[in-house]
Amino acid sequence: MHHTFTLGNYTCTVLNDFARTRSVKQTFPQIDEAELLKEIGLGGYDLTLETEMSLHGNVLLIDTGDQKIMIDSGLPPAGGQLLQSLAEAGIQPSDIDMVMVTHGDGDHIGGLASYSSAKIVMPTNSYKLWTEDTAGMIEEFVKLFRGVVPDQDLENMAAGRAKYAEVVKSLGDRVVMVEMGEEVAPGISFLAAPGHRRDHTAVVVESAGNKLLHVADAWRHPIQLKRHDFYCLFDSYPDQLAKTMESLLEKAAAEDFLVFGAHFDFPALIRIGKENGAFKWMV
Ligand SMILES: [Zn+2]
Repeated sequence: MHHTFTLGNYTCTVLNDFARTRSVKQTFPQIDEAELLKEIGLGGYDLTLETEMSLHGNVLLIDTGDQKIMIDSGLPPAGGQLLQSLAEAGIQPSDIDMVMVTHGDGDHIGGLASYSSAKIVMPTNSYKLWTEDTAGMIEEFVKLFRGVVPDQDLENMAAGRAKYAEVVKSLGDRVVMVEMGEEVAPGISFLAAPGHRRDHTAVVVESAGNKLLHVADAWRHPIQLKRHDFYCLFDSYPDQLAKTMESLLEKAAAEDFLVFGAHFDFPALIRIGKENGAFKWMV
């Protein structure tokens, strides 16, 4: 599946990588059930703790006219549909000039090897963490699943992240390190958004006065617009995440950004409104 739209002078394409489901309880396992049910009721969401919520994986591609820039690279090809979605959009993996990495999770960097002619653009901080504190970067993810999944799965997760660290170390001159706010192409830059991981970033895209905010994994459900403390199973640093959510939502509402979320329902594009001090999810 793919969806193409225009942002100023840029042509953007949302590429779907996967469409799965998880129950409300599986998504927010650490949140008190009574609290969750109360907020679900107040929000008018047609959900119970057992309701299967969709969990989509989406990748954004920006064609600036000069360059084709992918933000993240999806799952390893065997696990997702990204290459098929790309083919449907008439684009070859070898056409991709640049891959920006928002964070080093498997559903964001698993497909990197498919884009062997692309520059890999990472924030300097993220590059340093992956190369200098590899064990810490593995642990901040794996600890989320200890006691939740079988030990063998934990070992596979750790091995996957260790492999990514090796990939980063071996990129040589293909890696381009940038600072937050530094343009990687006209109007396109990383924005620090820590919490999901300590090096997690958002991306700002601006063209001819039109603005898009790619929030990656900062939030995934409308309930989190009100309750930033409702973190999900996959989030490493809940307190930091709540602050990040607030600042991204404030920015999106104040500056009327089109907002893209990696795990929103395809095509994963919303706007954020604000009414009587409360954020509104607007499709
Ligand atoms: Zn993700």
